[in-house]
Amino acid sequence: MNRKELLRLANTYGSPLYVYDTEKIISQYKKITNAFSSVKNVKINYATKALSNINILKIFNSLKSGLDAVSIQEVKLGLLAGFEPKNIIYTPNGVSLQEIEEVAKLGVQINIDNLSILELFGQKHPDIPVCIRINPHVMAGGNSKISVGHIDSKFGISIHQVPHIKRVVENTGMRINGIHMHTGSDILDIDTFLRASEILFEVAKQFKNIDFVDFGSGFKVPYKKDDISTNIDELGKKLSSRFNEFCKNYGKDVTLMFEPGKFLVSESGFFLAKVNVIKQTTSTVFAGIDSGLNHLIRPMFYNSYHEIENISNPKGRERFYSVVGYICETDTFGSNRRIAEVSEGDILCFHNAGAYCFSMASNYNSRFRPAEVMIYKGKDYLIRKRETFDDILRNQEQVTI
Ligand SMILES: *Cc1c(COP(=O)(O)O)cnc(C)c1O
Repeated sequence: MNRKELLRLANTYGSPLYVYDTEKIISQYKKITNAFSSVKNVKINYATKALSNINILKIFNSLKSGLDAVSIQEVKLGLLAGFEPKNIIYTPNGVSLQEIEEVAKLGVQINIDNLSILELFGQKHPDIPVCIRINPHVMAGGNSKISVGHIDSKFGISIHQVPHIKRVVENTGMRINGIHMHTGSDILDIDTFLRASEILFEVAKQFKNIDFVDFGSGFKVPYKKDDISTNIDELGKKLSSRFNEFCKNYGKDVTLMFEPGKFLVSESGFFLAKVNVIKQTTSTVFAGIDSGLNHLIRPMFYNSYHEIENISNPKGRERFYSVVGYICETDTFGSNRRIAEVSEGDILCFHNAGAYCFSMASNYNSRFRPAEVMIYKGKDYLIRKRETFDDILRNQEQVTI
């Protein structure tokens, strides 16, 4: 996206504003499907929670992508967006048996990640095949906040409990039709990922009638110029040949699945915010914007890095700023950043704002959540209106006091 166009959108729709370039989403989707083109059956299930605007879901549906949903609400959004139930996989954690049954009734693939629910579900619905989420106990990358496959993680059924899973299957007569893992975000090391995959193959072998093996996600995207990202082609080459070999030994062309979120949408997103105030202190120069952790919490939550650009004055002399929000908390987006000289009223652009940005936004400090704009086939569309004061009051019941 060029700066002039982003600036025009900020002027047209106001700030703060999320902008998504669907061309980038489409090219990322193609990158991953191309990397695994030597496997007969491949299915990419976009992880809804990264960016769940229904129009973005429709883009994925138009690409023949499937959907990974972690709540019944995400399942319903997917159905509304036009996905067939069979193209949705539901991978919740810690939800009630009742919610799982409701989703199963919709015809969606269920993925169960604990033994207790597996046994209850199998007893009540032995005719509904389920996928099981395995915890391979491998730290695939990232920090402990975004890694979910390690030994202390709450996710998945331990590989050491496979004998118990098999007993549940035997006792209930249920069928396991898929094996799944998701080891967390930011895979840096392909060999670690492949090691986790071997564990998954080992588990898969022990179930005689599976239809798919789901390797989850965790693909890393670049956050800075020259930043490393998961080498998807290398992973594709290595895992594909290993997967094809697995299918041969298993005696069936099972489907290889992935469920990326960040990889597909992170780089498509730009967050635009206006500078309210420049504040010189004894230690730094703050640029305070008309947003905060209520709109973009990742830097404070995960210590994540978002490139920040001054698109109002791109050729200005570079100076150092700490970019902060207007929330009454310490909401620092970036410390000591080198940015083209910033004046009050300038528009700053945050990169990598597609994944886990709007979807984590809140009304903290009783602020409105921002508007969202989608660029599709060269045209811009408002896909979510900016909130208004009515939205803040909605659902509040006023008691006479
Ligand atoms: C969040 C999530 C993903 C997506 O992870 P990314 O790092 O965004 O690719 C995939 N699978 C499951 C089960 C998830 O919870």
